Parts: sequence; structure tokens; C-alpha cells
Amino acid sequence: MKTIDDLAVAGKRVLVRADLNVPLDDGRVADDGRIRASMPTLTALTDRGARVIVCAHLGRPKGKPDPRYSLAPVAVRLGELLGRPVELAADTVGPSAHAAVAALRPGGLVMLENLRFNAGETSPDDMDRGLFADQLAELADLYVADGFGAMHRKHASVYDVALRLPCAAGYLVQAEAAALSRLTGDIRRPYVVVLGGAKVSDKFSAIASLITTADQILVGGAMAFPFLAAEGYKVGSSLLDASQVDKAADYLEQAARAGTEIVLPSDVIVAAGPALDTPHKVVAADAIPEDQAGLDIGPESAALFAVTIRQAGTVFWNGPMGVFELPAFAGGTKAVAQALTDGDAFSVVGGGDTGAAIRALGFPDARFGYVSTGGGASLEFIQGEPMPGLDALEEP
Ligand code: ADP
Ligand code: MG
Repeated sequence: MKTIDDLAVAGKRVLVRADLNVPLDDGRVADDGRIRASMPTLTALTDRGARVIVCAHLGRPKGKPDPRYSLAPVAVRLGELLGRPVELAADTVGPSAHAAVAALRPGGLVMLENLRFNAGETSPDDMDRGLFADQLAELADLYVADGFGAMHRKHASVYDVALRLPCAAGYLVQAEAAALSRLTGDIRRPYVVVLGGAKVSDKFSAIASLITTADQILVGGAMAFPFLAAEGYKVGSSLLDASQVDKAADYLEQAARAGTEIVLPSDVIVAAGPALDTPHKVVAADAIPEDQAGLDIGPESAALFAVTIRQAGTVFWNGPMGVFELPAFAGGTKAVAQALTDGDAFSVVGGGDTGAAIRALGFPDARFGYVSTGGGASLEFIQGEPMPGLDALEEP
């Protein structure tokens, strides 16, 4: 993989696609893990005298400017980490961006506004994306791919722009690829995969391939509900994508044939909804009351997951076990993190919220084998799925 060490960057305008899609809380960055992970590439480029243009997305605005998704809080935090203020252009490829880039000096850095304020960024239409990529490419001489968490998406700033400028991978992408490669090929067994979180539809299809590689798949978070529903249990008002239930039933069958164990929670913590100080209780997984939602795996499930994790050789974990943002529903996630740091498995923790969860619960990144900034991206990588952002770097 060609990296930034292979590029002559001094004096050049370098467009860096970073992944700065961080959780916000009341207009402030709630977890800066992805910003910190982007620092080595950004500081190497500015130290080498590049004119650095950082671009990234935040959340899922609908292709037009929306102040709720401004990168302003991210620019503030990046400035704090760099020790100097970061200028944020008011647009992505418009007059403000052009003016900011024109004023850049060697060693300087500016940030563009949210890429997804432009419909072309995520358009399924090659022409629409190409037009936006042309506009991005116009701002720079070189392109650096460092937004690992977005590299599984065929988006203009991830894929199309890399075809338009001389390009290389940043240090984060290099580190991600090196760590995640240890989960492909020759894996130290038992290989345990822990899946949770709320973006079920994005991640569900990964299970088919994980069944063929993992020894055990422990399922928590909202990911558990299609499986519990497939077992015939009522899941009350839990987050459930009904269209996944049939697929979950298929996976249970495939796993049985492959000799892979899919372990579902035997108990869950339920409440009327996710709110601070809301009354909650532990119920068996087949006894979720109709008007209650499962918001965490229960203590019995957490203990069983922990035992399985402690005897593993390799663990891949994506997705919190519950609504960890609220203390009442953080126990399952905490138990998984604790078991991972106790055991001696090579562990990879992936996902923006999962990374934020371990840090919020007091587990430093250094206590895990590797903390990936990518959720969907790390899942695609370990399945050996093509990743547009990586593929584009290999084009001649
Ligand atoms: P990641 O970003 O690590 O890939 P996701 O985005 O898929 O993970 O999911 C993270 C979110 O899942 C968290 O905000 C958490 O509150 C939520 N979550 C976990 N378990 C549940 C549940 N049982 N019901 C609703 N939301 C849940
Ligand atoms: Mg997430």
C-alpha cells in the first residue's frame, strides 16, 4: 500500500479524507477517539510543509446544509488537540472553501464543512458523484485516504476523488489494515465474535460470513431482537427491524450446520424506554413485557458472555450490548469490556460507538489488542469484502 511516506507533500495542497464522525453531546464532542486517531497523519503532513485540507462527514444530513450536522464542534476539538485553532470553511466546495484553501500556507490546515451537505457525496449515480468529486479534486494537488470508517462506502470523497488525484493511504488506514488482517486467514482459536449495537440493517449481512469463520457468535444489543423473534419470543417495544427476522432464522440454521454457536441473551434488562432514572428490571429473554423494551443484556447473559470471551484466542467485538450511554443499561457492555481486558485473546474492538463506550466506561484503548475506528468498515474488511476506498488506492 502506497502511504504518505511515498508522497512529496511539501508546499502541496493535500486533501485528507478523515473519519471525524464522532458522537456529540449538546454541541460538544462527546468522544474524540476518531479525531485523535486522525492526528498522526495530519501532524506528519503539516510537519512536512503540506497545505492540508481536511474533509469529513458527520451524521446523516440529507444532502443539503443542516446546522445540526456542522463540523464546527469537531474543528474546535481538533484545534485543541493540535494546539492551534482550526479554520472551518462555511461550505465544502464553494467560495468559502476556495478562499480558505487559497489562503493556506505550507504547514497550515483548514477543514471543509460536512461532505454530506452535498447530495453528490453519497449519490448512487456515478455522474452525480463524479461531478462532486471533480469539485473536491479542484481544491487539491494530492489526496490522502485516512477515513477508514467510511472506506467501505462508494462515496465521492472516498472513492471517486481518489481516481482523480495522485493518492496514498494515511497512517490510520495503514494501522487498521495491519490489525484487521489478523482476523483474516490464520486466526488463533477459539475465535469469538461479539455483535451488538443499533445499526442492525447495516451489519446484519456480515453474519453469514462470520458463521463460516467464527467458533462462537455472542449477540447482544438491538442485534439480538431479530434472533429472539426468530426463536418465537415476543420482544415487546424493543428496537426490531421486522424484515430481519427471517434472515435471523436462516442464520440460526446455517450456524447449526456449520457447527458455529450463536449465543443469544437468556435475560434482558427492560424499561419503558431509554431515559435516565427510568424504572427497569431484569426479565428472561422469553418474557419481555409487551410495553417494555430490552435495553441491555441481563446479568446472567453478561456472565456467560464473559466466560466465553475469557477462554478465547481471538475476539472481534462490534456494537455495544445495551444503551451504555445510560448507567442502568451499561452493565452488559462493561462486562464484555472487562472480560476482554482480563483475558489474553488478541482482541479487536470496532465501531464508533463501541470505541466511545469502552472509553466512557473507563477502559483505555491500550488494554485491547486494537481499537478500530471503523464499525461497518471493519466488518467488511474482515469478511474480505471489496472496499471502494481501498480499491481506489490500488488503481493505476
Ligand atoms: P457502532 O457505532 O459501534 O458500530 P452502532 O452504531 O450499531 O454501534 O450502535 C450503537 C448504539 O446502539 C448505541 O448508541 C446504543 O445506545 C445502541 N443500543 C445498544 N443496545 C441497544 C438496545 N437494546 N436498544 C436500543 N439501542 C441500543
Ligand atoms: Mg454507531
